[in-house]
Amino acid sequence: MRTKHFLSGIAAGLALAAGVSASQGDLPLTAPVPGGVAIVCVGRAPGPAPQVVFDGQRVLVARVGDVWNAVVGLPLGLRPGAHELSVLEGERTARAIPFKVGRRDYETQHVTLANRRQVEPEPEDLRRIAREQESLVRAFSTFSDAALDTLSLDLPSAGRVSGGFGLRRFFNDEPRQPHSGLDIAAPEGTPIAAPAAGTAIEIGDYFFNGLTVVLDHGQGLVTMYNHLSRIDVVKGAHVARGERIGTVGQTGRATAPHLHWSVSLNNARVDPALFLSSEVRKQDSTGLRPAALGGASAAFAPVQCAE
Ligand SMILES: [Zn+2]
Repeated sequence: MRTKHFLSGIAAGLALAAGVSASQGDLPLTAPVPGGVAIVCVGRAPGPAPQVVFDGQRVLVARVGDVWNAVVGLPLGLRPGAHELSVLEGERTARAIPFKVGRRDYETQHVTLANRRQVEPEPEDLRRIAREQESLVRAFSTFSDAALDTLSLDLPSAGRVSGGFGLRRFFNDEPRQPHSGLDIAAPEGTPIAAPAAGTAIEIGDYFFNGLTVVLDHGQGLVTMYNHLSRIDVVKGAHVARGERIGTVGQTGRATAPHLHWSVSLNNARVDPALFLSSEVRKQDSTGLRPAALGGASAAFAPVQCAE
């Protein structure tokens, strides 16, 4: 299957793409549903890492043994059904690789907020929210060629999962965006540690998210930390795995102290629990079971190479 796309804009400057070298255990669990991750064979090593695009965004490519896998983040709003990846071959041509996205019906959550302004923001708030949304999307769209040694993430904070990923939410009975991260309830001041090495690419005080840190781990893997009581990292700083970046709080739209943790791949917010090592998931058998897998512990098999 060979299709022509005009992809030179995306292909520009990608010649040095390195890909990730990983073992199967370092990859996230496969959950080819909205809010999940699809793992699709896109080529054979020792050939160079293929350059892959999904929905206009560069996609992380990881080598496991002699296979190059695209590790594709699937947005919560993605339509179930047939989709395809574009594997760039030269400046203006691409090979299409089809894959399927299934359905996932996430649970519903009702939240009551005393602060009406956080449910029905005023016009000046809406302007601020739009600006903040723009800088967050810019941060989530980052694709840096930093080398990644693993895609397995630590839990950034001790605590109990108080809000699962993907919940279809109602604030004071008004339908709002689905929950695009994982909430970890912990006392104010609990340390938050980087779940993998990265660079702080965005820091700010946001209307809904409160004090916020965004880390770029490389290859389109970006994580975000919200509602902090304090930020312990400066914009542009490199942080090691386990290094403290701030403390848990309840700034922004929050009813109690907790960490809202988002994980983004190719600008799609995906279920963070898919990225936790199996040892971490065992610590809390209910709260850390991936919602994108519907509470099942078994993952889908990656999509094999066609040949
Ligand atoms: Zn949250």
